[in-house]
Amino acid sequence: MPGKTESVFEFWLRPLTTLALIALAGLVAWAALSATAALAVVAVGCLLLVVFHLQNLAALERWLRQPELRAMPHGLGIWEGAFTGLYELLRTEIRSHQTLAATLERFQAAVKALPDALVVLDRRDRIEWCNSMAEAYLGLDSARDQGQQISYLLRQPQFSGYLNAQHYAEPLLLRSQHARETVFSIRLVPYGEEQKLLIVRDVTQREHVEAMRRDFVANVSHEMRTPLTVVGGFLETLIDTPSIDPARARHYLELMHAQTQRMQRLVEDLLTLSRLENTNTPLTEEEVDVRELLERLEDEARALSQDRHAIRVEIGSECALLGNARELTSAFSNLVSNAVRYTPDGGEIWLRWEKKGTEGVFSVKDTGEGIEAQHIPRLTERFYRVDRSRSRETGGTGLGLAIVKHVLSRHQGHLVIDSRLGRGSTFSAHFPARRLRCGPPETASPQTAADSSASA
Ligand code: ADP
Repeated sequence: MPGKTESVFEFWLRPLTTLALIALAGLVAWAALSATAALAVVAVGCLLLVVFHLQNLAALERWLRQPELRAMPHGLGIWEGAFTGLYELLRTEIRSHQTLAATLERFQAAVKALPDALVVLDRRDRIEWCNSMAEAYLGLDSARDQGQQISYLLRQPQFSGYLNAQHYAEPLLLRSQHARETVFSIRLVPYGEEQKLLIVRDVTQREHVEAMRRDFVANVSHEMRTPLTVVGGFLETLIDTPSIDPARARHYLELMHAQTQRMQRLVEDLLTLSRLENTNTPLTEEEVDVRELLERLEDEARALSQDRHAIRVEIGSECALLGNARELTSAFSNLVSNAVRYTPDGGEIWLRWEKKGTEGVFSVKDTGEGIEAQHIPRLTERFYRVDRSRSRETGGTGLGLAIVKHVLSRHQGHLVIDSRLGRGSTFSAHFPARRLRCGPPETASPQTAADSSASA
């Protein structure tokens, strides 16, 4: 390496030149004066050389006690090279230290931003470090709890069992000590020299969905089993009794027919729900003439009611509704059918379309049995019923309001339920202003609304 040879050469050049100069001065003194004079000249030269090196060495020793860039001594000769080399070395070190500190800072910021809790444990399961999510999820304090045994702070027996079992392939599901409804997935990952990384993730939502899925499968199976058992029982009787009385056989067939209709309704509602829940099903939109829709719903209600209720229609707005006619019909029809089914004979039912503020509101009001406040938030859950037997007797599937909720949310709307036990209920579907088309009425004649109200 030419560079290196050159620098080694340069290094030796100056001291050797100095020594050569001292030797030359000695020789000149010898030639001009005497051998003693020569020795004296060489001795003084060497002494000066030693003093020079000692001075630089002292400067270096002083600087090493407090090595700062700006306090670096300036040397002469070989010391200049040595001090420059040291200066460069220190500067490079300071730069790499700064780079390392910045990288560490970025890394810590990234770890802080993680949505999961992280705790670093040493070989004895004592906390070395934790991020802010660990403080939030597990109630740890990164400063106070450093060096503490993790099992003293996470006192649940399942966790201690998981920690001691040392089989960390599967995560542990644990309810939070502080908020029981929160579920954590806890995972230990061994790394380095018997250290462990404790990763805690909030899986409450995932567990909730999973529980809903399990409930749903159980509910569907249960709903199907009852009619299937009835149909199976009657069929068995018919097979085992060849000489059965025809009137009796007919009665059985009618009962079986009712059960198959019930299963059919359930399957239809399930298919509707699954279509609505499938986010890939696009919402095809059109301007729905609400007046016309209400007239059809009124006919439906009358057919279902068989004159047992007084049914009125009130149209307070001529606005059309932008949406999917089939879905809206299905949702509104569920509300109307519920009002008929849960209102005792002699009751009254109002179907109303109006503009409230900027919103379009379709509501169905009844003077029926009403609902206790505690049930109201759960009514749109699939298969949630206040009175199971009344729902079944009247042909309910327990899915009607779940369908309504989905249809409304696909139309950026929402359902408001106002009910008082023994007094009746109002179910209102609210639609945002952008779903309303409030131009002059195109087809419907205002006379129809008056007729509908009057006919009730
Ligand atoms: P169902 O098929 O059982 O009627 P829904 O999802 O349509 O299912 O309604 C859920 C429950 O809400 C019903 O079982 C009933 O208890 C209650 N409910 C719905 N509408 C009314 C109403 N108008 N009056 C009283 N209770 C109602």
